[in-house]
Amino acid sequence: DTLRRPVHTLRVKMVLLGSSGVGKSSLALRFNKDEFRSISPTVGCAYLTQLVRLSNATLRFEIWDTAGQEKYHSVTPLYYRGAHVALLVYDITQRETFVRAQVWLKELEKQYIPGSTVIWLVGNKGDLAHNRQVPLEEGQSLASNKGLYFTETSALSGEQVTELLQSVAHRVFECIG
Ligand code: GDP
Ligand code: MG
Repeated sequence: DTLRRPVHTLRVKMVLLGSSGVGKSSLALRFNKDEFRSISPTVGCAYLTQLVRLSNATLRFEIWDTAGQEKYHSVTPLYYRGAHVALLVYDITQRETFVRAQVWLKELEKQYIPGSTVIWLVGNKGDLAHNRQVPLEEGQSLASNKGLYFTETSALSGEQVTELLQSVAHRVFECIG
């Protein structure tokens, strides 16, 4: 049905940032339902792609997932270069990962990410709300103070994961479509 075929495919570079153990790789695997997946040893990070269809376009997400570099609290500028969207992930059950997210954010604003990059704050492990150390409202207010988008997810249950990628796609399409 050619009439219904999206008019174009846009390439979107999305990087995952956040402390080790917050669930970045688990989220990436959840995003990646039916597309090819591979590890690129040359750039030192896992790389995969995922198509997201909107009504008038298809977005081809190229998802960059750090390969353990976050342990040293640094990733190469190559990682950020050209990123359309950065997911800044923390674990709602580990307050220090929320504190760390704010340090990442400062570094991003200072050094790497141009103003046009969409930064999305993600509170992951929403299924562990009984062990929550970061209230929902705190995530929301950080996001609104810094002009970020915000979602709580669970890579484990899948809750809000597809919705997150759809929302990101809509927002990015508004910027670059
Ligand atoms: P990364 O270091 O940020 O890439 O984190 P991983 O994706 O490797 O996840 C770290 C650990 O947290 C693993 O044991 C995952 O199974 C677990 N994990 C990831 N996401 C969730 C989640 O949403 N809920 C729960 N309960 N565990 C999660
Ligand atoms: Mg990982």
